[in-house]
Amino acid sequence: MNIIIFGPPGAGKGTQSARLQEKYKIKHLSTGDMLRAEVASESTLGKQIQAIIDSGELVSDNIMVELIHSCIDGVDCKKGFILDGFPRTVPQAQALDEMLKAEGRGIDHVLSLVVDEDALVSRIQERASQNGGARADDNEDVLRQRLQVYREQTAPVLPYYEGQSLLRKIDGMQSIDQVTDAINQIIGQ
Ligand code: AMP
Repeated sequence: MNIIIFGPPGAGKGTQSARLQEKYKIKHLSTGDMLRAEVASESTLGKQIQAIIDSGELVSDNIMVELIHSCIDGVDCKKGFILDGFPRTVPQAQALDEMLKAEGRGIDHVLSLVVDEDALVSRIQERASQNGGARADDNEDVLRQRLQVYREQTAPVLPYYEGQSLLRKIDGMQSIDQVTDAINQIIGQ
């Protein structure tokens, strides 16, 4: 089973993906986590990526598509995967479709967590205070920038999947458990 979990920063994608990984034994692929690992390695690419992440902008489609391609070809994705944070642009979505089609695979569900922006700002502030401000992109200015990038470049991915009749919207303002139940209902259908 191959799933895309979709939603603006702070919507709860990571939390729900971890639960899906546990329940269905499919691989959670978080592009944000992968990029942060590259940054932590202090490679030249990592330094370039850090500057982009800190500004709230997006890493280039070429880098992201290559990264995802090598992951979904891995043995731990054979049973399926949950994409968290990818695709974030329409060209990324198109490239994903092409790479999956070439292998006779496809996406089964696109789950969109729908949340209110002001609630997101307080969620992210809470996350920053819990982490002691560990994520440089978890401050209010960068979050506002990330939300703008989301509206301009990522939200257009939704109609792309709506056109393929794959998109299911979930009220992301419910409790974590209620969101999990809603997801399980959709997947179990
Ligand atoms: P996240 O943890 O998913 O919110 O990602 C943190 C940051 O990594 C984003 O603000 C982007 O700068 C970058 N990033 C993650 N996934 C992607 C993607 N699919 N395309 C471009 N940039 C990405």
